[in-house]
Amino acid sequence: MIVKDINKLKEKCVPVSAFNFGEGEDIAKQLLDELKNSEGGIGLAANQIGINKRVCVINVKEEPIVFINPEIVERSEETFVFPESCLSFPGKHIRTLRHTSITVKADNHEGKLMFTADSDDINDAFECVCVQHEIDHLDGVTMFDREFKQEPWKRKSKKIGRNDKVLIAKGTESKTIKYKKAEPLLDDGWTLVEV
Ligand SMILES: [Zn+2]
Repeated sequence: MIVKDINKLKEKCVPVSAFNFGEGEDIAKQLLDELKNSEGGIGLAANQIGINKRVCVINVKEEPIVFINPEIVERSEETFVFPESCLSFPGKHIRTLRHTSITVKADNHEGKLMFTADSDDINDAFECVCVQHEIDHLDGVTMFDREFKQEPWKRKSKKIGRNDKVLIAKGTESKTIKYKKAEPLLDDGWTLVEV
């Protein structure tokens, strides 16, 4: 059963004890089973099945990835907008603002894991967003807390230089480009999001 009560999902998960590693693996197995039975789910966090422990799984590419006690240790300044949904909120589709690249440490992985949406493969973007989405769950954060609300950018006192990088968005698409390249697009339905 998947937890759909947002108040329960706002509770932070506690780390799995380093002395009870089997517990983390057991939770991961339950998560992968639940994910397999879900309709098109690509990730799941332990609190979504009522277990308040820091374990989550994703299944975007050929092999699922299990994370026990994961932490995002590095985040790119660059962000992008992506469509998201969540097994706890069926039928809800929103756009969120996510980091383009992240680095993750987890107790069941040696070294660090890098995820980036900065590639030609759309699955890389799905994976990068999914990892951020699931680790957010473990921190009691849902996709609604990351919702991208498109507001017209208000001119600050600072003047934008032609070579300044800006974030622009249109529909579910977004990109960070130089202002001189963004300017013509602003007349074409794109909105300035961040300078
Ligand atoms: Zn979710």
